Amino acid sequence: MPFQTEILIIGGGLAGLTAALHLNKLGFDVTLLERSIYPHHKVCGEYISNEVLPYFSWLGIDFTNLSPTQITNLQFTSASGKQVNTRLPLGGFGLSRYSIDYYLYNLAINRGVNIIHQQVGQVVYREDEFVVETTSGTSFQDFINLKSPYLAIKAHYKSDFPNNLVSLNNFSGGYCGVSKVENDVLNICYLANYESFKKHKDIQGYQENVLYQNKNLKKILQEAEMIFDAPLTISQISFHKKEPVFNHVLMIGDTAGLIHPSCGNGMAMAIHSAKIVSELIQKRIEYKTSRSFLENEYAANWQKIFGSRLKFGRILSMILQHKTYERLAINSITAMPFVLNKIIKHTHGQPIKMRN
Ligand SMILES: Cc1cc2nc3c(=O)[nH]c(=O)nc-3n(C[C@H](O)[C@H](O)[C@H](O)COP(=O)(O)OP(=O)(O)OC[C@H]3O[C@@H](n4cnc5c(N)ncnc54)[C@H](O)[C@@H]3O)c2cc1C
Repeated sequence: MPFQTEILIIGGGLAGLTAALHLNKLGFDVTLLERSIYPHHKVCGEYISNEVLPYFSWLGIDFTNLSPTQITNLQFTSASGKQVNTRLPLGGFGLSRYSIDYYLYNLAINRGVNIIHQQVGQVVYREDEFVVETTSGTSFQDFINLKSPYLAIKAHYKSDFPNNLVSLNNFSGGYCGVSKVENDVLNICYLANYESFKKHKDIQGYQENVLYQNKNLKKILQEAEMIFDAPLTISQISFHKKEPVFNHVLMIGDTAGLIHPSCGNGMAMAIHSAKIVSELIQKRIEYKTSRSFLENEYAANWQKIFGSRLKFGRILSMILQHKTYERLAINSITAMPFVLNKIIKHTHGQPIKMRN
């Protein structure tokens, strides 16, 4: 007899764990399949926008004991070293993915979510039912991922860096985010163009030859002492347009669309998408609406809330990687600092409100 569950979530990152907690709070029987064992580090800038706080509070998620840093200010530096500083309209917090995902995982287990450590290989939809096969071979993400020219590198460091600052540093072929997380640890994470990266011998060589061209970044990297044995790397990061519903599966978080990390909002979007999907599933069960109604409503809601943010993120990353456009953009931001606040507003959302 195959294993049965009311709700099945594939992937226990931020989106999956948040949706599991939400649907569990609504009283559903939730099973989550995750291929990795917690806790583990993840390649991520680890800055989360405060827009998630009202929703987290409704879910009974409280990170206070993990001692996140409170981030209020943004520094942006261009590849040529020009600098712009501003206060973040909503602000955010810095917490490692190692701690966040592990905290959410333990909360989900304690609240009765059934978490199974297996990798999903295939999902088949037939007559309003899903058949999900687990495997140690192919990855679920593999068949929706398109080839991408980006890789990302991250490590934790000891360094004297302000607690309240997130620093975004542009360089030729990429960008690097720097901010503190818990325990006075500095997270340095960058996204790099693979073609440019592979011309160098190793990570150190790439940093010295390319990232160091940005003087601010050079200073940060030279003053930082790495805590990790070696940096973490991931490749094939895809910013291609994806679909919020794929083969009848409701895609949340990055599987529906990844905003360029320089916008610093992917985690808040992943969390927000968990709320949207959970509320619509509740509606479908309460009002007995059809599967196609659920799928169409989810796709429409997703598009309405995130469509323009993703589009804006794509344009922004294109500008930042074009020498002339980048210079023009930096000159206008320096002359009119309010432009930077407008950009932040376009890539971030409002606090995620709950009805009750
Ligand atoms: C370089 C970089 C820097 C970033 N910096 C920031 C930042 O500072 N702030 C911010 O808000 N966002 C940032 N982001 C974006 C952010 O990391 C993502 O948007 C966020 O992690 C999305 O959460 P998720 O749950 O969709 O995916 P994930 O957190 O990646 O979780 C997916 C989970 O699914 C599991 N999984 C995958 N395939 C399978 C399978 N076949 N079977 C079972 N389990 C599976 C994985 O093991 C994983 O645990 C950054 C992204 C990058 C690439």
